[in-house]
Amino acid sequence: MTEKWLVGVDLGGTTIKMAFVSVYGELIDKWEIPTNLNEQGKYIVTDIAKSIDQKLEEHGQPKEKLIGIGMGAPGPVDGDTGVIYEAVNLGWKNYPLKNILEVETSLPAAVDNDANIAAIGEMWKGAGSGAKNLICVTLGTGVGGGVIANGQIVRGANGAAGEIGHITSVPTGGAPCNCGKTGCLETIASATGIVRLAKEKLITSNMDSSLRNLGTITAKDVLDAAKENDRLALEVTEHVFFHLGLALANAANVVNPEKIVIGGGVSKAGEWLAEQVTRYFQQFAFPRVFKSASIVIATLGNDAGVIGGAWLAKQSFSE
Ligand SMILES: [Zn+2]
Repeated sequence: MTEKWLVGVDLGGTTIKMAFVSVYGELIDKWEIPTNLNEQGKYIVTDIAKSIDQKLEEHGQPKEKLIGIGMGAPGPVDGDTGVIYEAVNLGWKNYPLKNILEVETSLPAAVDNDANIAAIGEMWKGAGSGAKNLICVTLGTGVGGGVIANGQIVRGANGAAGEIGHITSVPTGGAPCNCGKTGCLETIASATGIVRLAKEKLITSNMDSSLRNLGTITAKDVLDAAKENDRLALEVTEHVFFHLGLALANAANVVNPEKIVIGGGVSKAGEWLAEQVTRYFQQFAFPRVFKSASIVIATLGNDAGVIGGAWLAKQSFSE
């Protein structure tokens, strides 16, 4: 019998990333379509179904070629029923994604939170390199988190496990967070947080800085300047690394992971970033927890979601 394919889908607020993946985790084809946010996201699943059929046709393959779909969605998910409790960006509330996906595509489907799926992707084919206990943190516009324990996604009582971005870093007087709290890690270690901190420092200090010559500042500008030993930028990044190392140490003390994978746009700062965070991680982690854990940079980039989705489909529907 010829080899069958898995479908990985990573649903975001702007684009839907999709891929055909072999059962060994190899990308056969990947593509993306825009996310149609009209009318509370009611067209999204139909768009996905049409796109899968169209790609199958391009490859000259029948529907039977596909084992099933694994999908990550931006919000807390009930992993058993596949209901999305809430996806604010898409306009979904208590949305039975798994059921609708199965009806529209005539394929078995499994869904989970997008950060969890990315963590699974890194575990299977990325920087996690098969580690069964793993924490994944994504530093982008926000800070996402996923926890894998004994090879399983930890979802918790109502899908909110692994929300590392909303660990409280500043107990009083912190900046407001999108989740409604203040002082979350996300307000410091996200790209948005880094830029906010740099702008504040530029106003409150007289220090010379290459950042003063820039019109608009990005997180990459701040990290690049810090690498060049720009003192003001270094003060900002030390603050970021301190809180990231502290939060990851506290999370690691609960999970005792083999790997902590840092992904997202900010992680493009690379090995240097992993080393800086490790300094504080070592300071704050339980010594035995520190000994077993290494902090590494994600290697799958934007593909983590579709590869993790494929893994979920493989786990759920193979054999
Ligand atoms: Zn928060």
